[in-house]
Amino acid sequence: MLMPPFTLHNPKTVEEACELAGMLLEKGEEFDWVAGGTDLLPNYKWHINPKPHVISLAKIDGTDTLSLHEIGCMARLVDLTTENGIHPLVVEAASKVASSLVRRNATIGGNLCLDTRCFWYNQGEDWRRSIDWCHKADCGTGADCRVIPNQNTLCVATYQGDIAPTLMVLDAEVHLIGPQGLRILPLAEFYQLDGMTKNVLKQGEFLLKITLSKESAKRTGTYQKLRVRDSWDFPEAGVAASWIEGDVSTLQIATTALESIPRCHPEEVAAILEDGWSGMDSVKALALSIRKAIKPVNNTSLPPRYRKSMVRVLTKRAVEKILEK
Ligand SMILES: Cc1cc2nc3c(=O)[nH]c(=O)nc-3n(C[C@H](O)[C@H](O)[C@H](O)COP(=O)(O)OP(=O)(O)OC[C@H]3O[C@@H](n4cnc5c(N)ncnc54)[C@H](O)[C@@H]3O)c2cc1C
Ligand code: SF4
Repeated sequence: MLMPPFTLHNPKTVEEACELAGMLLEKGEEFDWVAGGTDLLPNYKWHINPKPHVISLAKIDGTDTLSLHEIGCMARLVDLTTENGIHPLVVEAASKVASSLVRRNATIGGNLCLDTRCFWYNQGEDWRRSIDWCHKADCGTGADCRVIPNQNTLCVATYQGDIAPTLMVLDAEVHLIGPQGLRILPLAEFYQLDGMTKNVLKQGEFLLKITLSKESAKRTGTYQKLRVRDSWDFPEAGVAASWIEGDVSTLQIATTALESIPRCHPEEVAAILEDGWSGMDSVKALALSIRKAIKPVNNTSLPPRYRKSMVRVLTKRAVEKILEK
């Protein structure tokens, strides 16, 4: 598992990073951003889509800000769990990510931009060669998708980050910057339903920071996670719920690890509210409706049917927990 060679760039300012990205794009040179490297570098060691250039965000001034209303892309997950003043829902989710060792290096930007995962893809090069590759890393062979064959364009690899759904139910916004300038959009609009494109980042853009409004700070919530081993495993399913205490009309639910994107469920919540909130019966109906809305595929450790059933359980637990606070 030798790391393929690449040129590492270490810009010191956001402007320098954007200029560098623009210059590489102009020359037609491919590159990746790297933050903590806990996702990108293991993939490179497995020769999964390595690029000749890597731009590190680690030395850029001012990208590790951390407060209730702003989290810089280079903020380490360990600091999200230990610093005072971070929203408790984000602290809860960050504490459930991986192991303490991984959390020391992993960053919030890397977690939100995490590559999608699939057991036909997160394997060494020899293993992937033995099954004739798949089209997310097909090494020029034109190989098909191994999970849903004959669909040839999309990839259904699973997004398995824990923090995105919690930020979604807090109405977080992401600030994206690149050679074309800055744009700000709700995190709920950041992801794209394709395991290869993953999100709406344009070529040369990176995620600069996440902001939370004053309204977000009023929300309380919880994050429920299913995983194989509590010590460090990726989520097999995750449900985040938040509300403004006492007002059930503000309820928001988001799920993760069930598709190529983390997803907010405003329609499912609205449909239950429209029928009139009736306590436990509504909680059960909502849990069932979220279960029906998600479509996991068979490419993570646990079978899709079990993950789907567990979404109902996790949703029920999450909503019960916030309502009883
Ligand atoms: C053993 C193990 C267990 C894990 N378990 C969990 C888990 O339980 N829950 C969970 O959520 N995660 C889990 N992870 C994933 C881990 O959280 C991520 O690897 C980490 O959050 C990524 O952050 P990073 O800074 O290391 O990203 P990197 O590895 O540096 O980057 C990850 C990806 O994001 C891109 N990127 C990084 N920063 C930016 C940015 N600011 N803008 C645009 N693109 C960017 C990179 O190009 C790369 O594609 C686990 C990882 C390991 C190794
Ligand atoms: S979902 Fe299909 S294309 Fe995507 S990584 Fe898995 S096998 Fe490859």
